[in-house]
Amino acid sequence: MTRLQRFYIKFYYRLLNLFPFTKVINKQKLNGERNVFIYFDYEREFSGFDVGITNKHVEELLDFLDSVNIKTTWFTVGRIVEQYPDTVSAIISRGHELASHTYSHIAPFQISQKKLREDFKNYHNILSTSDSIKGFHSPNGQWTVSLLKMLKENQYSYDVFGSKRESDCFPGYLKIGSKYFRFPTIGDDWPAYIGNYNKKETYNYFINKINCLPEGALVGIGFHPWVLVINNEIYEGFKMLLRDMAVEREYKMQTAYQFYKDLTEG
Ligand SMILES: [Zn+2]
Repeated sequence: MTRLQRFYIKFYYRLLNLFPFTKVINKQKLNGERNVFIYFDYEREFSGFDVGITNKHVEELLDFLDSVNIKTTWFTVGRIVEQYPDTVSAIISRGHELASHTYSHIAPFQISQKKLREDFKNYHNILSTSDSIKGFHSPNGQWTVSLLKMLKENQYSYDVFGSKRESDCFPGYLKIGSKYFRFPTIGDDWPAYIGNYNKKETYNYFINKINCLPEGALVGIGFHPWVLVINNEIYEGFKMLLRDMAVEREYKMQTAYQFYKDLTEG
C-alpha cells in the first residue's frame, strides 16, 4: 500500500466519523455481563501466509473448543469452502458459526466495486442451499459505505469492524435499514504474532483488554488458525485465555450470530 493510499483511507474513516450513521443499540438489552464472541479468520494459504496448516490442525482446534465448551464464529474464505469442505462441515457440525471472510480474501480499497460484487456472487455460488451465512468480516478490517450496501443487498445480518475508539465496545445498527448490526472487535492476534509474544504475554494482552470493558459491552476477539499453528506460545496463551473465560461467570460467550438473534428477537 502506498503512502497516498494510507492517507486516503485514514481520511475516509475520519470523514465517516464526522457523520456517524451507526447508532448504538439500547444498552439495556446487554446489561450486567461482558459479552464476548471469539472469532477466527480462517484463510489458510489464501491470505498469503502459507504455513502448512492441515485439516488435522483444524480438528485439534475444534477439539480444544469442545473441551472448553465455547461456540465460536469462523469468518471463512470462500475458496476454503471449495478446497477444504471437510473442515467446514466439521466447524458447522460442532455448533460453530460459518461466516464470510470474502471469497478470495480481498478487501475494499484494493479492488474495484465491480470485482467486490463478483466476489460476493462467487461466495454465494459455492454455498449449498443448507448453508446460509449471516456474518461478514472484511480482510484487513477495511470497509466502505459501498461495501455495507453490498452486505445489505446480499442479505447479511451483521459485520465486524475494528474499533478505533475506547468507547467502541457496543454494537450499533445501521440507520440505512433495521436489523443490520455492526459488532466491534477489540483486536486479534496480529500484535502477538508480530511481537512474537510468549504464552503469558499473549494471555495478558487479551485479558487486560477484556478487563477494561464496561459492563454490558459486546465485542469480538479474533484469532488466525495459522498463527496458532505456527507459534505454540501464542496457542498456549490462547488456550489459557479461553479456559479462564469459560469458567468465569461474568462473561457471556457465544457466536456472533447468536448475539444478533438475542438482540433482534423478543
Ligand atoms: Zn484475513
